[in-house]
Amino acid sequence: MAANASSLSAPWSDRIKRAAIILLVTAIVLGGLVVLTDLSLARAIFAFICIAAAALVPWQLHDGARSSDAEPRIDPVDSAVVRSLVAGLPDPSVLLDRAGRVLHFNQEASELAPALRRGELAQSALRAPEIVATLRQALATNKMQRATYVEHVPIDRWMELVVTPIPVPTHFGGADTCMLMTFHDQTPLRRVEEMRADFVANASHELRTPLAALSGFIDTLLGPAKDDPSARERFLGIMRVQATRMARLIDDLLSLSRIELSAHVRPSSPIDLPPLVRQVVDGLEVLAQERGVEVTVDIPETPVIVPGDRDELLRLFENLIENGLKYGASGGKVEVTLVETPAEIRVKVRDYGPGIAPEHLPRLTERFYRVDVGDSRAQGGTGLGLSLVKHILNRHRGRLLIESVPDKGATFTAVFPKAAAVEAR
Ligand code: ADP
Repeated sequence: MAANASSLSAPWSDRIKRAAIILLVTAIVLGGLVVLTDLSLARAIFAFICIAAAALVPWQLHDGARSSDAEPRIDPVDSAVVRSLVAGLPDPSVLLDRAGRVLHFNQEASELAPALRRGELAQSALRAPEIVATLRQALATNKMQRATYVEHVPIDRWMELVVTPIPVPTHFGGADTCMLMTFHDQTPLRRVEEMRADFVANASHELRTPLAALSGFIDTLLGPAKDDPSARERFLGIMRVQATRMARLIDDLLSLSRIELSAHVRPSSPIDLPPLVRQVVDGLEVLAQERGVEVTVDIPETPVIVPGDRDELLRLFENLIENGLKYGASGGKVEVTLVETPAEIRVKVRDYGPGIAPEHLPRLTERFYRVDVGDSRAQGGTGLGLSLVKHILNRHRGRLLIESVPDKGATFTAVFPKAAAVEAR
C-alpha cells in the first residue's frame, strides 16, 4: 500500500515543482520589465496571473493525454487475460456482471446452453429455476452459492452449479463484483453410485433368499417336524442346497471383486489351453450325465499357449460349459471347439437348447442379470457367471462373443488375441 501511495503522489509533486519554476521565472521577467521598461505594475500583475493560469491548465490536459497514451484504459473484466482464463476453464463457465449480463463464456458453456450471448442476461439462456434462484442468491448475498439440478434434454444429466462472486477493480479506482458460474457434470459419479447401490441391494437380496429358507427349515425342524425322521431328511437336503447356493454366491462375489481389483494387471503365466479345457470338460462329466447331455470336444493335440491366470481360465470355461449344460440341456448336445488363427485363439461353447432372445444378449454380462430368474435359481445360478467371464477375459485382453438364435441354441466364444500368445512364448 505504501508503495502505491508514493507512486500516486509522485506526478503531483512534479507538477507543483514545475509550476513553481514557471511562476518564479515569470515573476523575475515581469519584475525586470517593470524596472527596465515602462510596463505598469498593474499590467505586470495581470500578465503574471494569466501566465500562471495558462501554465496550470495545459498541464491538466497534458497529463490526461499522457495517461491515455502510456496507460491505456484496460477494463480488467474485458481484458484478454480474463477471456482466456474463462475459455481455459475445464467445466462449462460463464462470467457475468453484477446485473447478471454475460461478459464471457467458454466453449463448454455454449455446448451446455447454446442460447448464451455476450451482453444478454444469463437467465434468458439458462432458465432452470435452480440456476435462476442460485444466481439471485449469490447476487443478493455476495457469497458463493451451490446448487444441484437435473438437465433433462437431450439426456438426463446431474449438474452441480457453483456461483462465485469475484471482486474486480474498475477504471475509476473502485471495485465491482462479477459472478463466475461453473457447471460440473456429476452424471458419471451418480451412475457409479447407482450401480453400487443396485449391487448392494442385489447381493443382499440374493443372500437373504436362501438365508430365509434356511431359518424357516430350522424352525420347522425344531418345532412341527421335530419327531418326523423322513421330513427331517428331506428338509436337511433342501438346507444343504440353500447353504451351497449361499457359499457359491459369496465365492462368486469374492472372485469378482478380486478380478476387478487386478483388472489392470495382465496375467503372464504361459497357459496351455487344450489340456486346461479338457480338464474342465472332465470335471463336468457328472453334471453332463445328470442332464443327459453329450459333450463333444474338438481341440488340437498340440500346445496352444496364452499368457494367463490358470485358476481364472478354469473358472471361465467352467462357467461357459456349465451354462451350456444347465440352460441348453434340452438340446442334448454341447460342443466345445478350439480354433487357432494367425490373429487369435477362439474357444467356442455351443449348445442346442432354447437359445436367448436378442433383447437379452447385450445385458447378459451385467451382474445379477438373468433371462429367467426362477430358472437360474433352480439351476443353482447366481447371475454372476457371465459377468465373471467378461471380467476374466478383459483382464486377459480378450473378449466374449455371444450369438444365439431362439430355439436353435446359443454359442459363447472366448477370444484371445494372438499377439498376447506370441509374447508369452
Ligand atoms: P447364472 O448364475 O444365472 O447362470 P450367468 O451370468 O452365467 O448367471 O448367466 C446369466 C443368464 O444368462 C442366465 O441366468 C441365463 O438366463 C442366461 N444364459 C446363460 N447361458 C445360457 C445358455 N447357454 N442358454 C440360454 N441361456 C443362457
